[in-house]
Amino acid sequence: MQLPSHKTKIIATIGPASRQRSTIEKMIEAGMSVTRINFSHGTFEEHTKTIELVRDAAEKLGRRVAILGDLPGLKMRVGKLKGDSITLRKGEKVVLTTRDVEGDETTIPVEFKDFPKLVSKGDTIYLSDGYIMLRVEEVKGNDVECVVVNGGILFSHKGINIPKANLPIEAITPRDLEIIEFAIEHGIDAIGLSFVGSVYDVLKVKSFLAKKNAELFIIAKIERPDAVRNFDEILNAADGIMVARGDLGVEMPIEKLPIMQKQLIKKANLAAKPVITATQMLVSMTTEKIPRRAEVTDVANAILDGTDAVMLSEETAIGKYPVEAVEMMAKIAKATEEYRESLGYSRLRSWIESLPQKSTIKEAITRSVIDALCAIDIKYILTPTKTGLTPRLISRFKPKQWILAFSSNEKVCNNLAFSYGVYPSHMDEGFTEKDIIMLVKGLGIAKEDDTVLLTEGKPIGKTVGTNTMRIFQIP
Ligand code: PGA
Ligand code: MN
Repeated sequence: MQLPSHKTKIIATIGPASRQRSTIEKMIEAGMSVTRINFSHGTFEEHTKTIELVRDAAEKLGRRVAILGDLPGLKMRVGKLKGDSITLRKGEKVVLTTRDVEGDETTIPVEFKDFPKLVSKGDTIYLSDGYIMLRVEEVKGNDVECVVVNGGILFSHKGINIPKANLPIEAITPRDLEIIEFAIEHGIDAIGLSFVGSVYDVLKVKSFLAKKNAELFIIAKIERPDAVRNFDEILNAADGIMVARGDLGVEMPIEKLPIMQKQLIKKANLAAKPVITATQMLVSMTTEKIPRRAEVTDVANAILDGTDAVMLSEETAIGKYPVEAVEMMAKIAKATEEYRESLGYSRLRSWIESLPQKSTIKEAITRSVIDALCAIDIKYILTPTKTGLTPRLISRFKPKQWILAFSSNEKVCNNLAFSYGVYPSHMDEGFTEKDIIMLVKGLGIAKEDDTVLLTEGKPIGKTVGTNTMRIFQIP
C-alpha cells in the first residue's frame, strides 16, 4: 500500500460523463477521496447507481471513498425553454412565472413554487450565474413582471439568484428532507446544505437527523450574504464548510471573492473543521484537456490559503475529461504541498501563535504535537480517535507528515476523508497500540525504527479523550 502523492483531498462530482465503473475506478486511482452527488440534477435511480458503483470500485481497489450528497436547497432554476435557449434584450419586458409553461422570450418558467413570495418591486434578479440581470416591476400572483437590465442568451434550467441580505424563508426545503431520507437509507456519509442563511438551517437538519436516529456529516455551503454575516455560528454548528464560489460570486460582489475565500478558510482552520473550496477550479477542462494557467494557479492558491479539499463539479459530471481533471488536481496539489513543506517549521510556529490562549486538553496536546514536529524528525503521526477531532486538530496545521488516524467507527473514518493529510483506517472495537503498529507495518506504511508520534487518551479503555503524546521508534 502506498499513501497518496498529495494530502489535499479531491472531491469530484459524478454525473452522466463519469457514471461508469471504469471511469470511477480511474478517478479513485487518480486521487478522488470524496465523491459528490449533486441532487440538483438526475434521478434517485441514477444516484443509487452512482452510490453502488463508487462503493464497489472503492472496495475493489481497497480505498476509502466518502460520498457527499449535495442538497438543492433554495437553488432556483429556470424551467424548460423553447428550443432550449432564448435571447433576452435590454429594456424588454419578461415575465417569470411558476405556472407550468414552456418558456419563450416573453415568459420564463421558474421551478420554485415560492418564487413570487421572495421578490418585490425594485429587486434585482440574476439569471445564469449573474450574466443576465432583471429588475422586478411588479408581482402578480404566480407572475413576476420584470424588465431586462443586462441581456444575453438564456439556456433551459439555468440558475436564478436573488441576492438579498435576508431571505425570508428557511434554506432547508421539504424536498431536501426527502433527499436526506434517501441519503440515510443509502448510507451516504455527508450532506451539503445549500444556501444556508443562519445557524437555524443547520440545527433544523440536525434535529431531523436526531429524530431519524441518523448521523451524517454536515457541510454548510456558504453561498449567500447572510451565511457570510452569520458565519461564526454556522461554522460552530456544522461539521465542515464549503466556499461555494459559484453562487457566492453572484450573491456578493465578485471582486470580494478571493479575500472572502481566505477569511472563511482561515476561520474553518482555526475551528479544526474541514473546508472545501468549490466551483470553476478547472472549469475549462470540461471541454479541453489542458486547463487555463489561471485555474491551475487558483487551485494552488486555495491550497496555500489552507483549504482541506478542492472540488470538481461540471469538470467531472458532464465534462469530456473527468479522469484527467482529477489527475490534474492531484498534480497541482503535490507540487504546491511540496513547496509549502519546503518552507519549514516557522509557518507552523506562527500558526500556533494565532490560536487563542485558553483552550482544551486535546488542543494543548495537538499544539505540542506541532512543537515536537519542529524539534525532531518524525515520520508519521498516529492518532487513535473516537470522534475524529484529534486528527482534525492536527490536520489544520497542515504538517508535512501524514496523520494516520485509527477508529473503530466507519463513519468517523469516512468523515476524515474531508480532512487534509489524514489517512483513516478502520480498527476493531477495543484496539490497542500494538494493533495500530501491526496495521501500519502490515500495510507497508511504517517500517521498523521509523520514529513516530502517537497521541492517546490515558488511562486506556476509559473515554478520557486525547491527553497524552508519545514519541518512539517502531519496534
Ligand atoms: P452548486 O454549489 O454547484 O450546488 O451550486 C456550489 C457553488 O455554488 O459554488
Ligand atoms: Mn451553489
